[in-house]
Amino acid sequence: MMIIDKRKIYEVIDNQKPNSVALNGPEGLVSRIQEVADNVEERYHIPAYVIGDTCWGSCDLNTHAADLLGADILFNIGHTIAMQSLGRKVVMINAYDDVSFENVARKCASDLKARYRTLSLLTDSQHLSQITTVKKIFEEYGYDIVIGRGKGQLNDAQVFGCEFYPAHYMQNRVDAYIFLGQSMFHSASIVMSTEKPTYMLDPYYQEYTEVTEFARGLQKKAVLAIYNALDAQRIGLIIGLKEGQYAQVRALELKRTLEKLGKKVQLIALTEITEERVQIFKEIDAFIQVACPRISTDNHFKKPMLSVPQGLALIKLLKNESIEGFLKVQHWL
Ligand code: SF4
Repeated sequence: MMIIDKRKIYEVIDNQKPNSVALNGPEGLVSRIQEVADNVEERYHIPAYVIGDTCWGSCDLNTHAADLLGADILFNIGHTIAMQSLGRKVVMINAYDDVSFENVARKCASDLKARYRTLSLLTDSQHLSQITTVKKIFEEYGYDIVIGRGKGQLNDAQVFGCEFYPAHYMQNRVDAYIFLGQSMFHSASIVMSTEKPTYMLDPYYQEYTEVTEFARGLQKKAVLAIYNALDAQRIGLIIGLKEGQYAQVRALELKRTLEKLGKKVQLIALTEITEERVQIFKEIDAFIQVACPRISTDNHFKKPMLSVPQGLALIKLLKNESIEGFLKVQHWL
């Protein structure tokens, strides 16, 4: 069951005495966030707005919505990061899943024993609190377990879908990675950014899955899109308008470089980068978007839609350089 740290919300309200608050978080948590908003209204008799727009991560906070609503505090729930707050208005609230990994961790540790000696554990924000327990289980089976250090917003052992510092610090020391949680999204990116075997422990189905092949499929699709963009005459360079994904400087740098290489580049700004929205740009042959890299690697677009590392790889190809290991970086932005 997901447990939201309501104690912290009440503590912040008691201290700051806001006139109104707003709350948001990932879609899977919306009904729990609604309950918390009800609790806040009943307890403090102030408006508590639930922001229903998408909220993919700490890069997608919707503070402009909180500003528009006049809310004094925005509680962002369920995106645990190494910081307690972001900017003057946003307070990060932890939400942990207390589901047990005991059985699936034992099954995985027992089955993989003959293949690997040193493993590293990684997870997303919801299961961070279970790293220590799972580490002890694997150690009981004789593995050396190393935990990668966090950096910036990332805690130790935590990865985002585009940022992998704790995985990278360990890559020369480990035989494979174990990801705690039911997320192909996170586990596949660990393979793509390290090129090491990765297993996902699913605590709900009590199964573990090797995600290496699935990730290689995504990687091949990412490479194909780069080659398909090589002959594009006119490139649409999309700047995402979500606050934490806004990368105007990066877009302008890419534009300058591509123009020097003979491409015509149109700057485009979009909040939601979807096939439906980009279809209106009929004269564009290929796109590079500098917002969320996973929009390009995980979604289907009719015309090539490159992320930042793919865009940089395209530039290398245009200069006749190798693009080997272009995704094997700590941060895809
Ligand atoms: S993968 Fe996308 S949604 Fe997730 S943190 Fe990175 S930019 Fe944000």
